[in-house]
Amino acid sequence: MTTGTPNPRKIDTSVAHPARVYDWLLGGKDNYPVDEAVGKMLPAEAHDAARQNREFMRRAAAWLAGQGIDQFLDIGTGIPTEPNLHQIVQEIVPSAKIVYTDNDPIVLRHAEALLVSRPEGLTDYIEADVRRPAEILEHARQVLDFDRPIAMSLIALMHFIPDEQDAHGIVGELLAALPSGSYLVLSHAASDLYPELAEQVTAEYAKGGIRLGFRTRSEVARFFDGLDLVDPGLVTATEWFKTPPAPSAEGSGIYAGVAGLR
Ligand code: SAH
Repeated sequence: MTTGTPNPRKIDTSVAHPARVYDWLLGGKDNYPVDEAVGKMLPAEAHDAARQNREFMRRAAAWLAGQGIDQFLDIGTGIPTEPNLHQIVQEIVPSAKIVYTDNDPIVLRHAEALLVSRPEGLTDYIEADVRRPAEILEHARQVLDFDRPIAMSLIALMHFIPDEQDAHGIVGELLAALPSGSYLVLSHAASDLYPELAEQVTAEYAKGGIRLGFRTRSEVARFFDGLDLVDPGLVTATEWFKTPPAPSAEGSGIYAGVAGLR
């Protein structure tokens, strides 16, 4: 079953958009020359980071479904890239319900791919901005049962929200709505792992009109304040899920973690 019929907004192909640059980095086709122009200026490591981030999403989603979590609120979903989150979790828990959210109209245009739920479960899509958490929560409450655990994923999203826009406050507001036993899944580009690359990537996105705010490990760790990080803790995308965190043959400039709410 699927729900949600948001109003289509116009796609602006004159400026680069984060979802479409990311799609280009992953080798997707749902992007425009302006997005490709930004992507082409990025260092090769940006492709690796996008792939590693996506791999983290898959591992974390499968792990959560394995814990019996059957409700997911995924914010900053991105243009569909198979396997999408619902495909991973419904493979393990066919009745799982997933609410997807993104603020880019192009994601809505491709939402059919996100809305092909298994009949036992449900997927839903809402076009909304994480900077207005109350709106997202209001919609999600119509689909998910907020008296039972929910996994909320903010994967490669919060580095688009600078401190002046109260990134930590937004995450705190979303978490406050979730019941005990819920989880936060978060990945975030690092400013302190490969600082020169981080600066280069930030500068290239800025030229394309996209503001990025990469964060240090301790700034990313603050998103998890008051939560219980599950093993292997806050590590890089390629180290999740290895216990103890093993330095991967492949370096990663993405921090990733999954934490439970008490
Ligand atoms: N979570 C996916 C996609 C990451 S790309 C993955 O990890 O594979 C980041 C996504 O965040 C893009 O699709 C972009 O459109 C979305 N995004 C950026 N700013 C946002 C905002 N303020 N509100 C909601 N989504 C946002």
